[in-house]
Amino acid sequence: MNKIGWCDYTFNPVWGCYRDCPYCYARKIAKRFAVPMFKKELRNTFTSWNGTGDYLNNLKQFRPTWIESNFQKKFPRKPSRIFVNSMGDISYWQPEWMKRVLKKIKEYPQHTFLFLTKNYNVYRDYSFPRNCWLGITATDIKEYCDWTVSFKNIRFVSIEPMLNFFPNCFKKKYTDWIIIGAETGNKKNKIIPKREWIQELVRVRDFGISVFMKDSLKPIWGENLIQEFPE
Ligand code: SF4
Repeated sequence: MNKIGWCDYTFNPVWGCYRDCPYCYARKIAKRFAVPMFKKELRNTFTSWNGTGDYLNNLKQFRPTWIESNFQKKFPRKPSRIFVNSMGDISYWQPEWMKRVLKKIKEYPQHTFLFLTKNYNVYRDYSFPRNCWLGITATDIKEYCDWTVSFKNIRFVSIEPMLNFFPNCFKKKYTDWIIIGAETGNKKNKIIPKREWIQELVRVRDFGISVFMKDSLKPIWGENLIQEFPE
């Protein structure tokens, strides 16, 4: 298990996102590791650079950028949960990037590939193989309501960071799995979820929805985190 906790591996053929969420950890990682990633690309392939723009600057600025050496990564044989794109949002991918990734995924039917986005409409644009789980992230009730009204075919929901109370949202089995996490890092004025907010969400288990609490909830919930996986 890696630091993310609910997946075995991450797969990041693209870095970058045009949103500007104040809690974004990926942007900080990109800034910090842009130079080593650039050097790795130079050494390995650099086929993703088409001769225009400034590749290193794009990585640093967190503009959606294809990273061929990451795409070429080999997956293990053992069936695993692989989170696609922890370093951005797939709604900003170019269509040809997604096509290449979905083609590769089809070669690994033993694995489960988990996608997350804040814009569920991107899922309408592609045909995902059966070993893909489509998820959305929702940090507050508005984001959550938007997708439940518009899009039902969501396998899991990541509520991370949890920024507000989700009153009475889950009255039936809309999805299979809820991941809950708190904002991490040393940001001033960060929102720490209240225990009651988490308790309310945990009620989704009454409807057969699995719950996975990330380690970031330990200071609020205690050591006995609920860490379930759906069937
Ligand atoms: S959508 Fe995700 S990757 Fe994009 S800025 Fe927000 S937290 Fe970062």
